[in-house]
Amino acid sequence: MIYTDTRDSSVKVDFKTAVVSGMNSQTGGLFIPTDFPKLSDEILKRAAPPSFRELAYEMAKPYVEGEIPDKDLNAIIADCYPFSAPVVPIDPTTYVLELFHGPTCAFKDFGARFMARVMSYFNRNELEPLHILVATSGDTGSAVGSAFHNVPGLDVTILYPEGKISPLQEKQLSTFTGNVRALSVKGTFDDCQKLVKTAFTDEELRKKLRLSSANSINISRLLPQSFYYMYASLLVKNRAPHDCKIDNPSIICVVPSGNFGNLTSGLIAQKMGAPIRGFVAATNANRTIPDWIATGEYKARPSVATLSNAMDVGAPSNYERISAMYTLEEVRELFASYWLDDEGTSKAIKDCNSKTGYIIDPHGAVGYQAWNDIRKGALDKLTAGVKNPIENPGLTPNLPSWANEVINKQAVGIILETAHPAKFGDIVKSAIGRDPVMPDRLEKVLSLPNNAIPMENNYDTFKSWLIENL
Ligand SMILES: *Cc1c(COP(=O)(O)O)cnc(C)c1O
Repeated sequence: MIYTDTRDSSVKVDFKTAVVSGMNSQTGGLFIPTDFPKLSDEILKRAAPPSFRELAYEMAKPYVEGEIPDKDLNAIIADCYPFSAPVVPIDPTTYVLELFHGPTCAFKDFGARFMARVMSYFNRNELEPLHILVATSGDTGSAVGSAFHNVPGLDVTILYPEGKISPLQEKQLSTFTGNVRALSVKGTFDDCQKLVKTAFTDEELRKKLRLSSANSINISRLLPQSFYYMYASLLVKNRAPHDCKIDNPSIICVVPSGNFGNLTSGLIAQKMGAPIRGFVAATNANRTIPDWIATGEYKARPSVATLSNAMDVGAPSNYERISAMYTLEEVRELFASYWLDDEGTSKAIKDCNSKTGYIIDPHGAVGYQAWNDIRKGALDKLTAGVKNPIENPGLTPNLPSWANEVINKQAVGIILETAHPAKFGDIVKSAIGRDPVMPDRLEKVLSLPNNAIPMENNYDTFKSWLIENL
């Protein structure tokens, strides 16, 4: 596969270059495949839908062609995904795609594990390890730490702001041993990021250590997230007629979004033949993308803190990819876009539980409320010409091309549940009055010792530490 750049279509690189460099530092653009090959009809039209692993292998294949042989790719996929992505019906026209069955209980495991194994593969003939530096405000650190733990040839140092992440998040990223360690920095997330960025531009340090990043803009984190869209949409296409008695319903994927990596992966799956009719881009008060869709003007802004904090992004980096793949008019046809405030989020957790019995986390709850409003009148209103002011939570005023299918009750929704509710136990408890059940793997991490190494917010101290200890 040839990869190009969102800012310069004359750029042509292979998969390894795109993965190892992360982004194109010359243009500031992001890498994107030049083609999204459709899966064969044999797979797409099969009577019994394929397994997650089989789809993962078939979908990854064209993107690594000529660089990772089939046998090695198969081993990588098997090692990445000892877990799957269950599809749970919660009412006759709503499915929840549970993306929290990986080791850190959030969907980022799907992308981070693939990236780690691909990087390890490309590093296999090197004598020196590749040192990954990652600054985190919470969730990315644990997904990356876990994904790279014990992966040969790679070594990870996580920087997090001391006292500024939740106790559970801290346990999830500070309790590794071996090739993954955490530094608790006396400063903010921005300070952590600055230390990492300074290290990457330090020629003297780079002569001593091979450094790399595990950024979410890396194409090797994005591609594998398309696997579960394909899996879920084929599964729902197969079973929905039995669940809701609608023949061949239109499938709408509802995506709680921050950086819009997850939603971009859905677009890739659709291009590869997934039977997805449209998307709902659901955000919290960080409504940069809903505002862009409503007004046509893209305005990045500082992020604001919300209950769904992994979606607190004011300058979503995948806007760059979405706007390279589609015109604004195409986006308005393909997406409904929706935002929800904190009050609505708490209420959605409560309503979802009382109406369906399902316990949803604050991120998934934003998606639940979006889907519920959309199928229960919001699109009807919009069709009748009543527009929701963009300052108010709700739908943006564009009418997606699939609106009538929802209005005529010919559609089902798949809500992407991006984290386990126990990761946000306090918020969920205050909404429904009881604690969600803690999965064993989270419980276990709570009893491990915190091995974080205290670090001054000072580049020279940080640099000497790296040189002495890595
Ligand atoms: C990262 C994250 C999101 C946002 O995903 P994007 O790809 O950044 O849009 C949503 N929910 C959870 C739990 C996350 O960790």
